[in-house]
Amino acid sequence: MDTKTVSQTMLSVAQAKQLVWQGIEPVQSIELVDLDHALDRVLAEAVVSPINVPLQNNSAMDGYALVTEESSLGAVIQQSKFHLVGTSYAGIPFYGQLKPGDCIRITTGAVVPKDATSILIQENARIEEEFVYIRPGELCRVGEFIRLAGEDLQKDKQVFAAGRRLNSVDLGLLSSIGITQVKVFAKPRVAVLSTGDELKQAGAELSDGEIYESNRIVLLSMLKKAHCDVIDLGIIPDDKLKIRDAFLQGDQLADLVICSGGVSVGDADFTREVVQQVGQIGFWKVAAKPGKPFAFGTLPNSYFFGLPGNPVSTAVTFDLLVRIGLNKLAGQSEHSPAVVFYAELESPIKKQPGRAEFQRAIAYSDEQGLLKVRPLGNQSSGVLSSMSQANCYLCLSAEQGDMQVSERVEIQFFNQRF
Ligand code: AMP
Ligand code: MG
Repeated sequence: MDTKTVSQTMLSVAQAKQLVWQGIEPVQSIELVDLDHALDRVLAEAVVSPINVPLQNNSAMDGYALVTEESSLGAVIQQSKFHLVGTSYAGIPFYGQLKPGDCIRITTGAVVPKDATSILIQENARIEEEFVYIRPGELCRVGEFIRLAGEDLQKDKQVFAAGRRLNSVDLGLLSSIGITQVKVFAKPRVAVLSTGDELKQAGAELSDGEIYESNRIVLLSMLKKAHCDVIDLGIIPDDKLKIRDAFLQGDQLADLVICSGGVSVGDADFTREVVQQVGQIGFWKVAAKPGKPFAFGTLPNSYFFGLPGNPVSTAVTFDLLVRIGLNKLAGQSEHSPAVVFYAELESPIKKQPGRAEFQRAIAYSDEQGLLKVRPLGNQSSGVLSSMSQANCYLCLSAEQGDMQVSERVEIQFFNQRF
């Protein structure tokens, strides 16, 4: 679909997600950061392991490394008496010669000498003078309790592809191959503004017809959770020139500008017109509730999202559509699709086929451990309290009509999204 066709068409949520993912390129700049500053950053280049992990065969248990006649993996060791000739401790290997019938004391993580075939765990060993015996009734097999060199990571093999967002365990893995710094994409810079003549900043006095503005703090905090650097452009009145100035200011400062409000087709809805003047609108109708008016486009130097102003719509469209764009902008190679669960519906749902719905709901497991879901009573996109009470979306496809109690329905947990 070309841009023109797209902007006329009502898109499905899946199409919108795909257009956002395809429509954004990762940020250009790349930084070299120390590992202890790399949490949640996105790798800008693949990492290949310079070593085997573990570097050498080592013991998984405290016990005795045995040198046996048997050598085939899994073979039961017949001999039961071994001559104790040395030690291998973690960090202090054994350097002597070994012959069949010898054994050495070994601790967890210590290097297994190349001639040793098995670890006899100390619980199964009996020591008498300089001899170690396998306790009667206990079996010891070749290969047992030996952690093989390279069984975790192999030298010259890729550990991570570019585009991986690093979690704490990933940092451990990088550390285990001796890496101290990584190349990551710069954090996306995102500018946020709210439009509306009726909007006042909390703390100010409200006049007739005014409301306290709430979308900016929702967006700014979600952006921070999404590991972006944020720029707050404040509240802008419904004035084409002021909106234009704010968009251009954001465009100078940020990789992405997000505006809430004024994206529909009312008398005071200028978002679309202004973006068309200074940049391009990619699409602006999505068959989703909340979120039908939604704009994605470009400004001269940045990307642009226009979100519907109703507080629930702002949070939900950010979560479902903007987040995907942020992941791409941040350099992620995959857009981390949401995990879907199925739950039994606790109360009936009225729905017209036509648009996909993301209802706010509470999911819980009943006494039998069955997952159940209760849609919240007020699904108005102006009612932010229902969003705050909810712990999941109840996801209804565009085709779905009314639903009855006990029917199976898709849910997506909020987890840490908001
Ligand atoms: P709009 O998208 O501009 O037509 O706004 C839709 C509804 O959301 C109106 O009731 C607005 O007052 C409300 N609204 C718009 N922006 C905000 C905001 N930043 N904070 C709270 N409510 C808003
Ligand atoms: Mg408005």
